[in-house]
Amino acid sequence: MQIRPDTCIRYREIWYRFLLLCQIKQEKKFNYSLFDETRQLIYNYENKIFTKHIAWIDIMEHKKHTLLLGAHISIAGGLEQAIYRGESIDCTVIQIFTKNNRQWFAKPLTKESIHLFKKTWHNSTIQSVVAHACYLINLGSPNIETRKKSTKSLAQELSRCTQLGIPYLVLHPGSKGEMDEQQCLQQIAQQINVALESTPDNTTLLLETLAGQGSNLCYRFEQLAQIYQLSQHKNRLGICFDTCHVFTSGYDKTTERAYEAVWKKFDNILGLDLLKVIHVNDSKKPLGSRVDRHEHIGKGALGFETFRLLFNDNRFFDIPKILETPKENLADDLRNMQIIRKLITPENEKILE
Ligand SMILES: [Zn+2]
Ligand SMILES: [Zn+2]
Repeated sequence: MQIRPDTCIRYREIWYRFLLLCQIKQEKKFNYSLFDETRQLIYNYENKIFTKHIAWIDIMEHKKHTLLLGAHISIAGGLEQAIYRGESIDCTVIQIFTKNNRQWFAKPLTKESIHLFKKTWHNSTIQSVVAHACYLINLGSPNIETRKKSTKSLAQELSRCTQLGIPYLVLHPGSKGEMDEQQCLQQIAQQINVALESTPDNTTLLLETLAGQGSNLCYRFEQLAQIYQLSQHKNRLGICFDTCHVFTSGYDKTTERAYEAVWKKFDNILGLDLLKVIHVNDSKKPLGSRVDRHEHIGKGALGFETFRLLFNDNRFFDIPKILETPKENLADDLRNMQIIRKLITPENEKILE
């Protein structure tokens, strides 16, 4: 290709736009398909059909996002009821248990209940649904029976999510009890492999960052990274970041500097592309206390600043954010969501239509 001087200028412009595009798409690593696309653009410019593509890039640059904000919602009365409840308080995303949270196993889902849930979801303004696995599951248990039951229960939860079309299942990876930490992390990774092998690959399993209460593991990013590294199904794993847990486990993020440092650490140890869901909770307990007590937004030790930073961070615009703050009824979630919306700058409000 002959590059004329004006082409050089255009080339630079295209290149600049390409980099912007990467940023918008939150591409962490150099993306070769995008690179090819850019090269194609330059060739096409020579053929004068390039304006069409530039228009496309313009759209990408000014891409609107939706504020993906919601709460953990009860399924009392049927799974589809959670969709109605979420919609009634303007959630764009909800989190649910797909079965009774106090029981290890549930009766299989009927065709009717699957259909009803999917239809209700499809006809609603809810953009995404996240499931949370039952709290009884402990893949790190030293007790063989509990470990077996946990793995089987996890597999059932994954299958239910697939049946319901739910893309993410959040899991508390496990507690070590009297077990050695390394041994426990290895066991958790093994059991995750077993559960993933026996289930369809439509649902991504998200390991949650925990507070480190009692003998819970995964309160350090390194522990999560270790499980991930030992996984034979890395493409089916992701991370759910809980703002309260991460804070009480010892990572400060209440100032802009500390906030940036935590995400840098997260990116170095795990990688931002593994982040799929954020649990948005303030904390009743202080930094490093390793106690898991959620608080209303702005009323706890994290305060408004952490959430102002988080909700204006364009790296996370497309990540579902879910409240698990104390509640007596839906009005509590509604109030916390209103508080969060007020923290978004007018500039970002325009982007987060
Ligand atoms: Zn959780
Ligand atoms: Zn918690």
